[in-house]
Amino acid sequence: MARTFFVGGNFKLNGTKESIKTIVERLNEAKLASNTEVVLCPPAIYLDYANTINKRSPLVKIGAQNTYTKASGAYTGENSVAALKDIGIEWTILGHSERRTVVAREDDELIAEKTKFAIDSGINVILCIGELLEERKAGITLDVCKKQLLPTIAKLTKEDWSHVVIAYEPVWAIGTGLAATPEDAQETHKQIRDFLKEKLGAELSEQIRILYGGSANGANAVTFKDKADIDGFLVGGASLKPEFVDIINSRQ
Ligand code: PGA
Repeated sequence: MARTFFVGGNFKLNGTKESIKTIVERLNEAKLASNTEVVLCPPAIYLDYANTINKRSPLVKIGAQNTYTKASGAYTGENSVAALKDIGIEWTILGHSERRTVVAREDDELIAEKTKFAIDSGINVILCIGELLEERKAGITLDVCKKQLLPTIAKLTKEDWSHVVIAYEPVWAIGTGLAATPEDAQETHKQIRDFLKEKLGAELSEQIRILYGGSANGANAVTFKDKADIDGFLVGGASLKPEFVDIINSRQ
């Protein structure tokens, strides 16, 4: 079964009401490949607004950048999956490297717990993994990815995996303009899929989409086109620009 091409846009902490309107309206009017799933993730404050002005559902959906392990309570500043459901949001990013290493010290266990809670609450997850530069240099890229995935593998049922897209994002490639080569990315994606096969079985491992993230842009996206285990992109900087449309259409 062919895996549907998937492109996520991670706006991070960027955007104004005006700029988000421009991006969503650009997609409303663009000619988009119909065999692609797109999820735009603006800052939480703009989720409801972006969802209201998005006219391309189900092709284009709106998603959050983070959610918590509880639906409500004394958790100042967190995003509730129940609130997301309430405003019609169906996706969230979890485990982004900036949350693991910069804005919070999220560990693999917490990310697994958040992932399970989101799925149980009806929210689909873009689960981010990926190694630091020193880990790549030390030759432990796959060990890092396995370690990041294991707590989630332990918590999810086989059915849960239909609600997860994995984003492999080497941290050294994020926001640096130095994307992994398609060959290097394919090699790691294949190793991740082999690991999923070992843990979850051949059938399921073939169904799980693995996105590449890290300086993907309108020019380089097409160079990943013939890579068998690269099922889409998670895009940061370029998702804010007109070239995002070229990334969405790069598999045509
Ligand atoms: P980038 O970010 O495309 O700006 O490198 C990707 C990401 O952090 O998801």
